[in-house]
Amino acid sequence: MNACKAGIRAILILCCGAGAALPPGAVADSETLAANAQRIEQRITELSAFGANPGGGVSRVAFSKADIAGREYIKELMRKAGLVVRVDTAGNIIGRREGSDPSLPVIMLGSHIDSVPGAGNYDGDLGVIGAIEVTQLLHEHGVGTRHTLEVVSFTDEEGGLIGSLAMTGRLGASALDVVSHSGMAIRDGIRAVGGDPDRLQLARRKPGELKAFVELHIEQGAVLHEDGVDIGVVEGIVGIRWWDVTIDGVANHAGTTPMNRRRDALLSAAELTLAVNRIATTLAGRHVATVGRIRAEPGAPNVIPGRVVMSLEIRDLAAEQIELVHQAIVAEARSIATARQTPISFAEIDVASAPAPTHERMRRIIAGSAELLGLTHKLMPSGAGHDAQDMTHIAPTGMIFVPSVGGISHSPKEYTSPKDMANGTNVLLRTVLAIDDGALD
Ligand SMILES: [Zn+2]
Repeated sequence: MNACKAGIRAILILCCGAGAALPPGAVADSETLAANAQRIEQRITELSAFGANPGGGVSRVAFSKADIAGREYIKELMRKAGLVVRVDTAGNIIGRREGSDPSLPVIMLGSHIDSVPGAGNYDGDLGVIGAIEVTQLLHEHGVGTRHTLEVVSFTDEEGGLIGSLAMTGRLGASALDVVSHSGMAIRDGIRAVGGDPDRLQLARRKPGELKAFVELHIEQGAVLHEDGVDIGVVEGIVGIRWWDVTIDGVANHAGTTPMNRRRDALLSAAELTLAVNRIATTLAGRHVATVGRIRAEPGAPNVIPGRVVMSLEIRDLAAEQIELVHQAIVAEARSIATARQTPISFAEIDVASAPAPTHERMRRIIAGSAELLGLTHKLMPSGAGHDAQDMTHIAPTGMIFVPSVGGISHSPKEYTSPKDMANGTNVLLRTVLAIDDGALD
């Protein structure tokens, strides 16, 4: 129906200050298209049957039987929303809705439905079901868009952003040999879901091919829930650096070596662990730093630890901030090493995850869409990795967060209310329509 289309366009132009000329007399009507909270909730529940765990939540690891069955369910929902469904060579499910102007690039929206073992029912799932809801609303109300829309469900997000890495041409050949949670090598998994690991280049989308990428996702943290804010406008996905920190002491007899003649590597490690926390807490910024793993050698109750290898992880939206925190920790480590006569060395592990800021104008469009809907919003970083971080390499990318109750995620206790899911979906809808109307031009 053109009337409702014009209505939506009118509101978007008020909010975003950009877009095509409106038919004269068009009336703004924000009620015209609205996400169906009950339908979203029902679909989340139906999807959670695939890989359901007895105690709640799901284990729908990529390429498992549950994942394959869940993918079929998603394809069916896409077809019901009028989308033409295909699977690219990386195994990404793509549902396409043609726009009126084939010369325009595609607006892509979506997330993933694979999970970690022992997961909840919302991480990724909401982004796919919400994106399908957007296209279903357009379909049901006969609203056309100028740009072609594509809803994507990415392959194996939890196993290392496999589908989005392939789509952006950044999936290394060695990643295909990695054994996924399913027990299958990623190469075989991609084949099992209908992809073709030998022709991954066909899944690649070049810069310019996509007008934008938008991902709706649960926050997986407690900020929105605790602050009572409806929508998170994601500033970017934080970068991550990892180090193995090795502390060398002297292993010796725990009974015969007096307390004042020890060079105990574990004591230095304990001091350094506390220092990491103190530095991360006291330095200005929003970085986080964690010691998550520690191994003492030889690891016997009656031997003074001669060597400790511990992990150090630092995350922030700015690479310089990560480096700053790292340098402060290294300086502290030097003084611990001298005082305790236990040399400390840092070896960086290549996890290759640079900060991925979202597109500045996409943030404004998302915030404007939330305002239009009367929803409160807040600019925030994402501390967790998402497919959106890969997509920033090839398209203006935006990300919409909705509250996670208690900030719990990767757990059967993960929960987001139907109202919050519908809010996020409505923001996604408005964002897509604003982009279609030229808000990014
Ligand atoms: Zn996710």
